[in-house]
Amino acid sequence: MNSIVPFFNDIPSWQRTLILAAGFVLMWMLESAIPLLRTGINKPKHTGINLFFTGTTLIVNFLFAAVLVMASDFTTRNHFGILYLADLPLWAHAVFGLLLLDFIGAFVIHVLAHKVKWMWKFHAVHHSEPHVNTTSALRHHPGESVFRAVFTTLAILIAGTPVWMVMIYQSASALFSQFNHANIHLPKWLDSMIAIIFVSPGMHKVHHHYLMPVTDTNYGNIFSVWDRLFQTFVSMKTSDIHYGLDIYPKAEEHSRLTRLIRMPFEKYRAPVGSKFGKPEMK
Ligand SMILES: [Zn+2]
Repeated sequence: MNSIVPFFNDIPSWQRTLILAAGFVLMWMLESAIPLLRTGINKPKHTGINLFFTGTTLIVNFLFAAVLVMASDFTTRNHFGILYLADLPLWAHAVFGLLLLDFIGAFVIHVLAHKVKWMWKFHAVHHSEPHVNTTSALRHHPGESVFRAVFTTLAILIAGTPVWMVMIYQSASALFSQFNHANIHLPKWLDSMIAIIFVSPGMHKVHHHYLMPVTDTNYGNIFSVWDRLFQTFVSMKTSDIHYGLDIYPKAEEHSRLTRLIRMPFEKYRAPVGSKFGKPEMK
């Protein structure tokens, strides 16, 4: 633990990008070794769209990196934030800090992205995904990447997290997102065991079911404790899950880059249930 702190305190951005790339490669390998679904997916087109949004997310995160470090330095200099209320041993300080960052920086903003209409129109780009796999992890409209980064900054200020903890959190957050979106089949007992503490692939896939009331469950990113606490934890058989959104059933709407970029600026669409059938899987 004592050697992890200085490593993450000074981690250069190329090493953080390497962690992200290694996660992608590992998940891609697992997806071909133990796939959950084999669909007639147009891989280059699908991956192209998701890599475009991954790129815009990385650009926004890169632009916000200095803001996050400034917020973190401010809390360290002024002993500001919840973590300064108690003198915890290093390991407990780290776990508590990661829990707070995950709660404010991921869970709370995710719930808001589902409940606040203008935010939802941005987040719908992520949910319109008809083939959830590890490349879906950062399929976020740049507008969503901005409001997520603002909440990460708020989380740092409220929690009072030092730079090394922010860096560990950012890497863990991206790796967990790649893991819980990955198109991998884990034995039920293993998935359930992971879901006791962490967000498992089986748990997160429920959040991507096309019927909108079901999308309002399993909001977690790293820890499953928040969904259990706020009673939004739901289990569902993977074979009953159909990805996408009931409001965007047509492939031309959910699988075309120009449409996805415009999606948040179109009129709000209320949930329609199964009225239009399941979203096309092209
Ligand atoms: Zn969501």
